[in-house]
Formats: sequence, structure tokens, C-alpha cells
Amino acid sequence: ERLLRLFGDRPGLHEIKGYLLITFADRYAPDDRAARSPEGLTLIREAASAHPDVPLLFFQHNPIYPPVDSSYPYNLTNAPEVMKSYAEHGVVLSVSGHLHGGSPLCFSDNVGYVTCPALCEDPFRFLRVRVRGHEVTVREESLKMPKTPPLVDTHVHTEYAYCASTVTAAGAIERAEKFGLAGITFTEHAGQLYVSSEDYWSGRFLNEPGLLRQARTEGRDRMRAYRAEMQALRSSFVRIGLEVECDRNGELSLLDEDREGWDLLSGAVHFLPEPFEGDAERGFMALTEKLLQQKVAVLAHPFRFFRRNKMDIPRHLFRPMAHLLAKYGAAGEINFHTNEPDPDFFRCCIEEGVPIALGSDSHALYEVGEFAPNLDVLRQAGAGERLEEVLFSS
Ligand SMILES: [Zn+2]
Ligand SMILES: [Zn+2]
Ligand SMILES: [Zn+2]
Repeated sequence: ERLLRLFGDRPGLHEIKGYLLITFADRYAPDDRAARSPEGLTLIREAASAHPDVPLLFFQHNPIYPPVDSSYPYNLTNAPEVMKSYAEHGVVLSVSGHLHGGSPLCFSDNVGYVTCPALCEDPFRFLRVRVRGHEVTVREESLKMPKTPPLVDTHVHTEYAYCASTVTAAGAIERAEKFGLAGITFTEHAGQLYVSSEDYWSGRFLNEPGLLRQARTEGRDRMRAYRAEMQALRSSFVRIGLEVECDRNGELSLLDEDREGWDLLSGAVHFLPEPFEGDAERGFMALTEKLLQQKVAVLAHPFRFFRRNKMDIPRHLFRPMAHLLAKYGAAGEINFHTNEPDPDFFRCCIEEGVPIALGSDSHALYEVGEFAPNLDVLRQAGAGERLEEVLFSS
């Protein structure tokens, strides 16, 4: 019940995309034994008869099958009765937890049973379960990354971001260490460290670059506070940097005296300032080249600009963009934050010898170093066994 509360959920029926998911919060007796109540057993019957032909998926805390050989009572005490009911009603899959080691998908009377390993313990495993009609496949993944090749999260925000939700620098470092990364780089939005949230989100700071100097003169900017705080965390594991943008003059959103001393400048296009408006594709490419001319080492979330603005991704620019990155010696970033990176672009990058950076763009703690999908993109892009070779290192 606590878990359901945490996820804003409730026990019972959930109809999702033509499937019926039924969650149980089975009662525990004081001796840690849990059983499915008579009402719970009735619910199975009722749900099945009210939803004929709908695949049924059941979720509960305790394992049901196979029996766990232990003096501790893992299985529901009336598991055989529950199994009989699941089988009678053609249940497709039963998902449990509780047993931290987990147990793989197995079948009894055509019902699939799987027990998820514990997400809360190293190596932080979880299951990706795919159900198509009555066909079930299960893939185990873990949040802990392999030691080789060494993976660095080169795009992490902090409590300084207006757009941050749960991310904090300290929390992000802790996660990066636990998840086996080789390092983490903080890249706070430079624009946000100077101007108000209003002047940032309106893009005004790019059309009126004088706002940056004005904020500094009036002592309102947070750039120096950010630098001092990050400097104290800096180590061989923790690098510090900024996510910068280009203003209407093609200059970085960064005062001259703040340019030096960073481990990484990551360039991004979030807004097109006035001179670059009009033809979005042309403006985007021109602004990107301005960023690269300013020697940013990584191009953050290439092409996400179009997705955010609900435009089609200009796939015909994949190759020209890879050429541009190669010309300026910058890396392209695989970034899943509100984004769906296209492996074809990264295939172009690999072909053009452009290094590839992995950036979680964490605004929430759960995003830090979650790189299984990023590595998938690299594989689809044809990086094969050459991961270490194609990855960006600062
Ligand atoms: Zn942000
Ligand atoms: Zn960004
Ligand atoms: Zn970012």
C-alpha cells in the first residue's frame, strides 16, 4: 500500500491500452505471513467475467509461484488457491516482488509468473516486461552500468536550475557513484545563472544580451555562487561546466570574465534569437555553427529544438550536422530528456569521426546516469564493440 501511495495509485482494476491490470495489497498477519483475502479471490472472478477477451495481468507483493524454499514466509500462504483461480480465468501474467533475488519468468497451467529483483539493492535491477496479447517477454536490466567502457554523465543540472525538479548536486554525485559511472559533469544553464526566470523563458536574455551585464552590475546574478559551490565539489570524479547558448549577435550567453576555468562548455539551442528566426532549419544550423565557433566541446541534444517546437525532425540535416561537428571537433550528445534521439544521426557522427557524449540532462534525480537507452542508441548506430573509441572524453 505504501508503494501504491508513493506512485499515486490504488489497489484494484486499471484498464490500460486493451489490457486489464489488477493490483493487490494483500494483508499481512503479525508473523509476516500474507494471504489473499476472500474478497481478493472474488475480485479475480469478477474482473475476469466482466472483461471477457481482455488479457489480465495481476500484480502483488508476495511471490505466488514457484514456492520459495525458505524458513521466511515469502509466498502467499494460500498461493495454490490463487494459482487455481488465475489458471481458471486465463490470467496472462502474474508479477510479484518481495524476494530480493527475484525469479525468472516461468509458467504453470499457462499462467506466466515472474518475481522482480530488488531495485533498491546493488546492482539496482529491474524488469522490462513486454506483453503482446497473450505473449510475454521479460528482459532484466540494471541501473548499475558496466565498468568498461568508463561512462561519464556529461550533462547534469543542479538546484540552481529554474527547471530543476528533484535534482541536487550532492544527490547526483551519490547516484553517479552508486550506478558505477566513471564521472559526472555539472552543466548548469548559464542564462539562468544571470537573469530572472521570466527573462530566461521568454528568450529575452538572447535578444537583449545587455541583461547579463546589468544583472552582474546590480549584483543579482548567481554565476559566482554556482561556481564557488561547484568548485568545492570538484574532483577527478566531479567536473564542472555550463550549458551555454548563443545570443542574437552569435556570442555566448556568458560574460567574458566568466568564460575561463570550466571543465566543459556544452552548447545548446533552446530558442532562436530574432536574427535567426524565420526559416527554422536555416536559423538552427546557423546558430549551431556560431556555438561551435565559440569552441563548445559538446553539442547538447542536437535536433531536440524541433521536437520541442512540434516540428518534424529535419533528417536531411543529419549528415550536414555531423560534418559541422567534425569540422569544429565537437561531440554530439545522446540525450533522452524530453527527447527521442535518432540512431541515424549518431550513425552519421560515427562515420564522420565525431565523438559521442552521454548526457542525462538530469533535472530530476532519477534521471542521473540512466544510460541503458543511450547505449542502445549507440548499438543501433553501429558503434558495435568500439564503444570506448566513439565515446567523448573531456
Ligand atoms: Zn533545464
Ligand atoms: Zn538544454
Ligand atoms: Zn540541460
